Amino acid sequence: MKILLAKNAGYCFGVRDAVDMAYDTAKEHGDVYMLGHIVHNENVVNDLDKAGAKVVESLDKVPDGRPVLLRAHGTHVDVWKEAKQKNMNIVDATCPLVRDIHDEIKQLESDGRKIIIIGDHGHDEVVGIASQVKEPMIVATPDEAIRLRKTKRAGVVSQSTQTIENVQEIVNILMNKVVDLRFINTICFPTKRNQEQIKELSEKCDVMFVIGSFTSANSKRLTDLSKERNKRSYQVTCALDINEKWLEDCNVVGISAGASTPDNIIEEVLERIKEIGNVQEEEIYA
Ligand code: SF4
Repeated sequence: MKILLAKNAGYCFGVRDAVDMAYDTAKEHGDVYMLGHIVHNENVVNDLDKAGAKVVESLDKVPDGRPVLLRAHGTHVDVWKEAKQKNMNIVDATCPLVRDIHDEIKQLESDGRKIIIIGDHGHDEVVGIASQVKEPMIVATPDEAIRLRKTKRAGVVSQSTQTIENVQEIVNILMNKVVDLRFINTICFPTKRNQEQIKELSEKCDVMFVIGSFTSANSKRLTDLSKERNKRSYQVTCALDINEKWLEDCNVVGISAGASTPDNIIEEVLERIKEIGNVQEEEIYA
């Protein structure tokens, strides 16, 4: 059996930097507080907790004088304002590519355009993007786009981890609804790269594994893209989820992982598959 590991499987640079910042701050100050999960991965959250990086629900729960880390996927403007008003010790882990989306959407609004965000309702990143402008509309699916009213001028951005297919389909519908449409493709380059890799890899392999938490939208999207091309695609959260039967009659197995999956879990899954398939080494698929 041969194992092909997607070259960019796992943490994107935005998440990696945020996790490193959380560990560094906890080490330096003894503890650090985060509003919600820094990464959609239970194992990472538990490890961080042990290191002193604690999850809290609101700024009120942060003990006086302790550092508060604002996450990679951005934060609602009201939370930023509150933290600044309280003169809190803010550690800003916002990914620069998310900040770019905030800048773009504000620019579109100042051009007098109606704002449309293509993204998942209620997702942290989308909530943060939406908070930058006054009355944004959030569109998650082509069906929702079809139900929109016609309008003269609109500006469109997307959540960084959307699939190109979903965004394209929605933008095509909007073209018939908006006279003057300005679309800025804000899917981030690590997402584009991972999606391209999994599309190719899933067509080359007999069996595909996507490693990632079921709470991670990004891992789910990779799994969906893989399943569309390869019926023997499985999402696993760790090595224990692997069923040996899935690897029967398999010559080539492909592996990718969501942007919130840490290296050690990828390594454990790799080791387990190597053990089952009696393989010495994996090949990197670039
Ligand atoms: S998925 Fe993209 S935008 Fe989000 S943190 Fe990673 S690199 Fe940044």
